Amino acid sequence: MIDFADLMTKAERLRMQLGEDNHSPIDIFSLTQGIEKLTIVYYPMGNTISGMCVKGTAGRCTIALNSSMTLGRQRFSLAHELYHLYYDENMMSVCAKPIGTGNETEIKADAFAAYFLMPRVALTEKAESLLEKHEGRLNIQDIIRIEQYFGVSHQTAVYQLNNCGYIDRDDLNKLLNISVRRQAEAMGFSADLYRPLPKEKQYCTYGHYINQADLLINKGIISEGKYEELLLAAFRDDLVFGTEEGGELID
Ligand SMILES: [Zn+2]
Repeated sequence: MIDFADLMTKAERLRMQLGEDNHSPIDIFSLTQGIEKLTIVYYPMGNTISGMCVKGTAGRCTIALNSSMTLGRQRFSLAHELYHLYYDENMMSVCAKPIGTGNETEIKADAFAAYFLMPRVALTEKAESLLEKHEGRLNIQDIIRIEQYFGVSHQTAVYQLNNCGYIDRDDLNKLLNISVRRQAEAMGFSADLYRPLPKEKQYCTYGHYINQADLLINKGIISEGKYEELLLAAFRDDLVFGTEEGGELID
């Protein structure tokens, strides 16, 4: 029996621990940059795996995300992997792509991820403010506003709105299967949430690994050549060769 109230508490507690309250959307990519000794690797992993979490020695850990998924789905996967990192005793988890499938730990991690990205209090506030305008029922535009506000995929928003009683069970499947990208664009939102990044941007590494490479070069422990080799192995060509997008603007 899964204790969903406990998962909600865990998600809210971890947000607080990472410096976020439970009333606002979060930028999970930048939030996780602050987790000590965590390396995040973005890598396209095909159609079956959403991500993985590997815990190493001395507190070092790595989360790998399937970067061929849409941005909204990657944000959910990162929150899912945080459950493995903080609350799962297994040292290694490989996670399947479909949400709400797999063993009990996977289902717990999915529920945790939904609460982490859309805390109940914040979702209630947002949904109630939209309901006031539409007299008791969320329409598809409202759901798009909610998923854009929290930065989650359409599926994640629909599931969580159903969990919180804002969408009927009867409407669930119909709403899950609606393609909303065009409608979101028509409403003036960016379609980024519903798309993967371009292929050349699907490989990257952030966090502890890069910090360690910087430390080694700054202390003179490794040569410039070795430093570049380490960065290139982590798909950080941008740090070795610079980006093609021009210089930095200070304004
Ligand atoms: Zn998992």
